[in-house]
Amino acid sequence: MAETTIYTFCRKDREKFGIIPGVTDKLYYTNSYHVDVNEKIDAFSKLKFESQFHAISSGGCISYVEVPNLENNLEVVEQLINFIYHNVQYAEINTRPDLCYKCGFRGEITTVDGVWTCPNCGNNDFKEMHVLRRTCGYLGSQGWSKGRTAEISDRTLHL
Ligand SMILES: [Zn+2]
Repeated sequence: MAETTIYTFCRKDREKFGIIPGVTDKLYYTNSYHVDVNEKIDAFSKLKFESQFHAISSGGCISYVEVPNLENNLEVVEQLINFIYHNVQYAEINTRPDLCYKCGFRGEITTVDGVWTCPNCGNNDFKEMHVLRRTCGYLGSQGWSKGRTAEISDRTLHL
C-alpha cells in the first residue's frame, strides 16, 4: 500500500545504503512525478510542471497544491480552478482545516518532534484533536506512519 511504502522503502534503503543526503536522509520518498514536498515553488508552476507527466501516468495521476486558509481570498481559489481546468488533468487544492478539541483552536495543527501538537494550547493527545490531510489522493485523519507524518510535516505552502 502506497501509504506506508514511502516510509518502508526509504527505511530499507537507508539500512542497505546508509544516509545519503537528499535521498535517504528523510523518512520518506516522494511519490511518482510530484515535486518534492518541501521545494519552494508557487502553486501555478508546480501544477504546470507536474501536468507534463499526466498523459504518461497510466496508473493514474493527481497533482495538488498546499494552501493556507483561503476563506478571505476566493479570487485566488477561482484563479487556481481556472488554471487547473486549462492545464491539469486532475488536481486538488489542500488546506489544513484542523481542530483542537481541548481549546477549540481551528487552523493548522503541526508536529513537534513528530508529535501532532496544538499551537494554541500544546495539546498533543491525537485523540483530542482532528487533523485532516490528503495522502495518496484521499483525505484522512486517522493518523499516519512515522514516515508519512514526517512527509506531511515537511510540506510547504504553495501560495
Ligand atoms: Zn488546543
